[in-house]
Amino acid sequence: MSKRLRNSEVCADCSVSDPRWASVNRGVLVCDECCSVHRSLGRHSSQVRHLTHTPWPPTQLQMVQTLYNNGANSIWEHTLLDPASVMSGKRKANPQDKVHPNKADFIRAKYQMLAFVHRMPCRDDDSCTAKDLSKQLHSSVRTGNLETCLRLLSLGAQANFFHPEKGNTPLHVAAKAGQVSQAELLTVYGADPGAPDTSGYTPIDYARQAGQHDLADRLVEIQYELTDRLAFYLCGRKPDHKNGEHFVIPQLADSSVDLSELAKAAKKKLQSLSNHLFEELAMDVYDEVDRRETDAVWLATQNHSTLVTETTVVPFLPVNPEYSSTRNQGRQKLARFNAHEFATLVIDILSDAKRRQLGNSVTSPRVDNVELILKSVGSCPVDDRQDNDQPDYDSVASDEDGDLDPASGKTDRAKSLDSDLSDSPVSVQEFQEVKNALAASEAKIQQLLKVNSNLSDELRHMQKKTTKQSSIPDGDYDNTVNDAELEDSGAARRGRLRSSGWLGETGSMADLDDPEAESDGSLPSTEDVIRKTEQITKNIQELLRAAQENKHDSFVPCSERIHVAVSEMAALFPKKPRSDTVRGALRLLTSSAQRLQSECRKVAPLPESGPGQTLGPDMQLVTQQVIQCAYDIAKAAKQLVTITTKENNN
Ligand code: ZN
Repeated sequence: MSKRLRNSEVCADCSVSDPRWASVNRGVLVCDECCSVHRSLGRHSSQVRHLTHTPWPPTQLQMVQTLYNNGANSIWEHTLLDPASVMSGKRKANPQDKVHPNKADFIRAKYQMLAFVHRMPCRDDDSCTAKDLSKQLHSSVRTGNLETCLRLLSLGAQANFFHPEKGNTPLHVAAKAGQVSQAELLTVYGADPGAPDTSGYTPIDYARQAGQHDLADRLVEIQYELTDRLAFYLCGRKPDHKNGEHFVIPQLADSSVDLSELAKAAKKKLQSLSNHLFEELAMDVYDEVDRRETDAVWLATQNHSTLVTETTVVPFLPVNPEYSSTRNQGRQKLARFNAHEFATLVIDILSDAKRRQLGNSVTSPRVDNVELILKSVGSCPVDDRQDNDQPDYDSVASDEDGDLDPASGKTDRAKSLDSDLSDSPVSVQEFQEVKNALAASEAKIQQLLKVNSNLSDELRHMQKKTTKQSSIPDGDYDNTVNDAELEDSGAARRGRLRSSGWLGETGSMADLDDPEAESDGSLPSTEDVIRKTEQITKNIQELLRAAQENKHDSFVPCSERIHVAVSEMAALFPKKPRSDTVRGALRLLTSSAQRLQSECRKVAPLPESGPGQTLGPDMQLVTQQVIQCAYDIAKAAKQLVTITTKENNN
């Protein structure tokens, strides 16, 4: 793609040339560095896709390119174009700016705060309410002017606005007019291709009536986007909707062996969730799939020296302020599932989505409530109010954070769902407990990641400062970091952090301040550890490239090379290091390398079992596991670099 793009194309945020990522909902192209910031904001702010390494629906890519070429970026930077703001010194990021804090601050202001979007002067009457904007959107989508529609959406127009006089939604209008890009844009903003107009016809029906069969097919695809994405994540295949196949349920080759009691219990409870809670969980899992897939693309497209810098890490789903804290916590816990556990959850969700949909059309007595599963992520009911006060699935049971506000303008559908919630036969807390138990083994790793990610900015700061001045007063950062991080910063402050490429992340290193740990003088030299880490990451890079290109034959030799490099790294360290952190990192390093090898060996022999899809899902799952292991190895190696750097500089 970069070859197809004109040379003049630059990152929308910092103007670096040859941007490789796109933000689908913002209609802009961004560079790797800015993309890492976009990712940290979460999908509700920016939905990023790699231009060449992510599979794109062609019409969606077309939509993004049209927006970008027509200057959609000026929507998000409107007031920066104003001479007055130039005078005031406000400016966008430069290519030379540091990611943190400069580019990150700018990107947050631009997309999270919408600080530079043009706001129309509002009177107290209804003229610039969401309703008014939505009516403008309703009439604009029949034209080809995409930027106008994006601008209206950015100002608060509702993609699912049901026009009271016309009796339909903007997507009906776009479908009827054959405006393919408008339909793509509307659905990115949550428009529902299955919403009926007053005569009971959906946008899909309108597209067919207008002879727009490709558009109609695409809208069907969008309707099943959630479950299709989950299936594709596991087995690289999507259902053939044109021939009436709407679900693919991959099978884990070893599921019968591995299904623990906990997993069985989780499955049972999943089935008893109300439709609304089930839908929320499915959306959360969709976001987690997106996070994992984008991580994998990220790892495969970075060179080995940036592979382990802190910008690569989006360790769990960023907070979505529109969700309750409990739901956000539940979303973040999904990151603790290892690849196999996560695959099991995804398969359970797919099976249950199918069961619920079949129930809808065939036997269920609760037809009214069963309509929710298959809509694209973020879609809302047909209503002019925004459905942003969804109850979270945990608060039903715990009731501890009064997030549910019956007076907050809930839609009729949401109200009916509330009554649905109270019917839920199994408490969601129980379900959550099962999930937690399932995740317990990964908790430690997760904690490390969390500390790491919070700390990265701090370390950058400190690195800058320590090179300038030899000592920094204690408590310099006390107001921004938590206890664990503070102990880390103590160690970091003392360190002369020599290689910026490896900086920015530490493990939970509280024990380094322990005098006993500090007397552990037998740590290897920083240079040696860095050299070995470079070897390891180079080998990992090779493996990830093989994974990206589906060269499964290369897995075993790659994993063996990694294993050798890891053993050499481990041999640098004393057999029984006194520091818990060193021990923990070494254990993660070596156990991940072993796991990696055994995962890679799985692709060598063909599974003896049955016909059909068993090979596909297995291969895809193994690849996921392989990437996860490689990621853990890189993480552990980086921890060891940071630890030895600190210790040797004491
Ligand atoms: Zn950039």
